Parts: sequence; C-alpha cells; structure tokens
Amino acid sequence: MKSKVYFIDLRAKQKLNLFTKLKNLLENCKLDNVVKNKALIAVKLHFGEDGNLSYIHPRLVRCMLDIIKEKGGQPYLTDTNSLYVGSRCNAVCHLKTAYKNGFGFPMQDTPVIIADGLRGADACCVEVNLKHFKSVDLGLQATQADAMVCLSHFKAHELTGIGGAIKNVGMGLASRSGKLSIHSRVTPYVQKECIKCGTCIPYCPAGAISFAGPDKQAWIDTELCLGCGQCLISCPDNYIKIRWDESVQNIQEKICEYAYGLLVQKKMPSIFVNFVTNITPECDCYGHSDASIVPDIGILASYDIIAIDQASADLVNKAQGLTGTALKGAFKSGADKFKAVYPNIDWRIQLDYGEKLGLGTRSYKLIKLTD
Ligand code: SF4
Ligand code: SF4
Repeated sequence: MKSKVYFIDLRAKQKLNLFTKLKNLLENCKLDNVVKNKALIAVKLHFGEDGNLSYIHPRLVRCMLDIIKEKGGQPYLTDTNSLYVGSRCNAVCHLKTAYKNGFGFPMQDTPVIIADGLRGADACCVEVNLKHFKSVDLGLQATQADAMVCLSHFKAHELTGIGGAIKNVGMGLASRSGKLSIHSRVTPYVQKECIKCGTCIPYCPAGAISFAGPDKQAWIDTELCLGCGQCLISCPDNYIKIRWDESVQNIQEKICEYAYGLLVQKKMPSIFVNFVTNITPECDCYGHSDASIVPDIGILASYDIIAIDQASADLVNKAQGLTGTALKGAFKSGADKFKAVYPNIDWRIQLDYGEKLGLGTRSYKLIKLTD
C-alpha cells in the first residue's frame, strides 16, 4: 500500500502566507494523531553549526511549535550533541549555538533540551537484535517524550548521499557512544602530537587511557575501551580522534537500525516534516553553507519516514539543477543530483534497508495541497 506524503510549495500571497500553508499542511496530515493534550512532544531538529545558515528558518519552527501548543501539546526542541569537537559537542556550547542561530525560549517560547545531556552520555539502551547492533544508545530525553515531531532540513549529504528524516532520527538521536558506533568499527586513537597533560585520563570510564604510548604519551587500550566516545571531547588540544572507517553501506544501515530502535522498539508516535529548501551539497554540521544545487521546492509531511525521504529525493531529482554550484552534471530534470555530487555513494541503501526493517515504504502518493 502506498503511504501518503502531503506537500506544499513555497508560493505565497498576502492572504496566504507560508505560515498559513504550513498549518494547512499539518491539518491535512492530521497532526492530532500524535499531539495529544498535555503530551510532551520532542521536536527534533538540527540547530546548525556555528557559521551554518541552511538550517530550518527559526520562524517556521516557531510556527510549528505554536500549532503543537494550540493542540494542547507541550513541545520542547531537542537534538543530541555532536560526536566530534565543534560548536555543538556538549550541552553548554550546543545551547549557545542554538541560541545564536535563533532557537531557544525567547525566540520560540519553547525550551531546548539536549537529548543526551551535558556530555552526550545520557543514553537509553534499546534492544534491537538486528544485523549490525544488538542494542542502540539513544538520547535519553528524546526517548522519554510522549511523541515526536521530526523537522528535517532535506539536502545532499557527504556520508549518506541524502540527509533527510531517516538521518535526522537515526544519527541525530544517537548518543555519543551511538554515533561513534555508527561511524567507526574501532576505538578512537591519540595523535602523536599529544603533550602528555593527562586531562583525558579521568574522563574514561573504563580506565582505558594511560601513558603507555610511544614517548609515554596518552594511549588507548583497545581491549578495555567501551566505545563511549567521552575522550573525544576531553582533550583541550583535540588530539584524540575518531577512526572514520565505516563503509557507506554500513553507515546507512546502522542509521536505519537506530531509527528502528526509537520508532519500532520504543513505539514512538511520530510525524515527519521535511523542509526541502536550501538544498545544499553538505549537512548542517559544517560551519558554512554552500550554494543550493536546485531551487527551493517546498515542505512535505508524512507518518512514513521512508516515504517522505523517497518523495523528497524524487522532487529534488525532478528539479532543474543549478549551475555554479557543487553540482557538476545531471542538471536536467530527472537526473540523479545526489549521485552527481557524490558519485561513490548510493543513497538508496538507507531507503531499501529501512523498508526491509519495516520502518515504512518507498511507495508513496504525493498529495499536493492547492492554495
Ligand atoms: S571511547 Fe570511552 S572507553 Fe574508549 S578510551 Fe575513549 S573514554 Fe575510554
Ligand atoms: S588530553 Fe590530549 S594532550 Fe593531554 S594527555 Fe590526553 S591526548 Fe594528550
């Protein structure tokens, strides 16, 4: 059976602005199915790295939150900390970056709660028993919500080809240990530049770091390491590094298994809203935003995480490519824009594997709402 995906374009006029259209979109998609009176609603989004500009517009996010509140829900904005050192790697700098980018209580009259806590260690372990993982570690404060409204900025992505709802849930709600296990099959390592200050040692819950490396520098015992990732943000000089060694196929499948943990095992009632705007060639984790590879398209909503990403990708590929961007070919309508930007990534893997896991279906009916 085909899943319904609702769609609005970005045309607007004096008596029908985008806020009204967004409200119509959610009414048609029956937001009431997940937003119940007094329910705590996790509104998952990416606040954007410091310097990025392509994340979802804060006023559109406020509009979404106001609609949720009108229906009696108690929303909070949430995301997990980044795995690597940056402007969102702990809850303090993450909240500061969110605020700087336009998200927080004064702007949306809504609190921000970082789902995996101060240092990314607050996780809920959910049993999945799948191909890659027996269990997944999800940001605790997201798993305790009554329901989730997942707002995703849809774009191309350097690791997974496309970055949409599947990635926003599967990677975006993994705790630090979860993200490390998605990206890497082995433990972190210490660079030879280590100055032996010892700061990292007490951060390791397994006692795996000692001065046993060459020249008595810090060294990680792979037998003892638990893969929690805490050391990655402990070194003041950023000398502890991730081994980015996982394959594109496995990363996509692992992301799906994380989404499975929340949506199937935890049975989180969820609605997905994809903003197919600012369709950049890279994710919002970078401190810059490159030019869009196709013109802005619109906003989609669905209860099916697979169908909405498939529909979003199809709309991008149907669009005319923009010259003078990261797109170096495939300009014609119908050509695969994601493949043109990342020739070595098959972005369909996540959709296929997610479908196999029962997260949704690639078969959809696009319902365009007319003005
Ligand atoms: S990943 Fe965790 S357990 Fe492993 S060395 Fe780093 S802090 Fe220790
Ligand atoms: S904190 Fe960094 S510089 Fe200090 S011992 Fe650990 S790895 Fe070396």
